Amino acid sequence: MSPSFDIIILGAGASGLMAGALLPKHIHVAFVEANAKIGMKILVSGGGKCNLTNRHVSPQDYLANPEFITPSLEGFTPNETLAFFQEVALEERDRGKLFGKHSAKDVVKVLEKRTAHCTFYLTHRCVDVEKQAEGFVVQTDKTRLTCKRLIVASGGLSWPVIGASDVGYRVAQTFGHTLVPSFPALVGLTVQKEQFWMKSLSGISFPVRVTCKGRVCEGELLFSHKGISGPVVMDVSLFWHKGSVVMDFLPEHSVASLMARHPKKQPSSLIPLPKRFVKAFLETLGLEDKPVCTFSKEELARLETMHHYTFAPAGTVGYTKAEATKGGVCVEEVNPYTLESNLCEGLYFLGEVLDVTGKLGGYNLQWAFASAALCARGLA
Ligand SMILES: Cc1cc2nc3c(=O)[nH]c(=O)nc-3n(C[C@H](O)[C@H](O)[C@H](O)COP(=O)(O)OP(=O)(O)OC[C@H]3O[C@@H](n4cnc5c(N)ncnc54)[C@H](O)[C@@H]3O)c2cc1C
Repeated sequence: MSPSFDIIILGAGASGLMAGALLPKHIHVAFVEANAKIGMKILVSGGGKCNLTNRHVSPQDYLANPEFITPSLEGFTPNETLAFFQEVALEERDRGKLFGKHSAKDVVKVLEKRTAHCTFYLTHRCVDVEKQAEGFVVQTDKTRLTCKRLIVASGGLSWPVIGASDVGYRVAQTFGHTLVPSFPALVGLTVQKEQFWMKSLSGISFPVRVTCKGRVCEGELLFSHKGISGPVVMDVSLFWHKGSVVMDFLPEHSVASLMARHPKKQPSSLIPLPKRFVKAFLETLGLEDKPVCTFSKEELARLETMHHYTFAPAGTVGYTKAEATKGGVCVEEVNPYTLESNLCEGLYFLGEVLDVTGKLGGYNLQWAFASAALCARGLA
């Protein structure tokens, strides 16, 4: 006979582990996890330090239906995340980002300790899920398990090298769920031929403001050999799909007033940005690096585009480099208070497999933990 459990959690990542940790111990819980280790994505998160959460979290920090995410975000706040991980030494960085002081391993250790009573089927890749009269059958590549309730916490498609797969989407479809098309998010963008000049600036970075689909993102821009990257571009990739973005390369200054104050200087010496960038920008606008008092009105207006340079990126650098997946299981068919499917009793979806994606800054782990906490409370 197949081993049987009250609950099987598909995926021992951030959301699944948090759910397992918060469920009462008398409930028999098993994890099915493709990797040999738990919490692999947490281990690589935040450059190995894990940006665990953010001091300030609100629905505006997500690309998601706010009505769906609010009960989770309000039910399990960043303070509760901090209380849960109180043994982990943290350090605060810009914009309220809370990172592990030493290593992401400290975060996984807490989850490991808190799920020690659960059964783990590691190196078990889930290949199929079926409904039976009293629950579900979970078929892995090595065994067959049964459970009364199934929690799908299998994440998105980014970073396939550490186990990401589409299994959650396939399970959702099996039970009639709608999928919102998926795309890489929190990822660098590639550029079209007209912006190839950016590639020659690979390695240069400075703060900019980018407007995309009505959202304003601010932060460090990094030119890369494929196009543009850095925190601000990763945030833009959340909202960008096709079409133009508008970049203000100098958000803290006015080019016009700098030029008025220093008419004898050349743009490359008066604009407080890396010289290599200013020279490449002038070249792409067809302008010479000459004293600004010699610029015609039309040339001055062209230089002003430094505040509103509009271009259409070509695409993203893809799932191998993306920190998240946008799209996923449509939230209209999931109960926002319990995370249970509206279409199949006993089936739950948590974390990134859902059509909920946060900005860079600890928002995705906070969503994973918060959705897990709400679900676990409902099941307790
Ligand atoms: C490089 C990188 C850095 C990041 N840094 C941060 C950060 O600092 N802060 C932040 O908030 N977010 C960060 N994120 C995003 C964050 O890690 C995820 O949003 C979060 O882990 C999602 O949690 P989850 O539980 O939904 O999925 P995951 O944590 O991805 O867990 C899903 C689990 O399911 C398993 N699985 C998948 N398919 C199968 C299958 N067929 N059978 C069995 N098991 C399967 C996977 O192996 C995985 O362990 C980062 C992501 C990446 C890739």
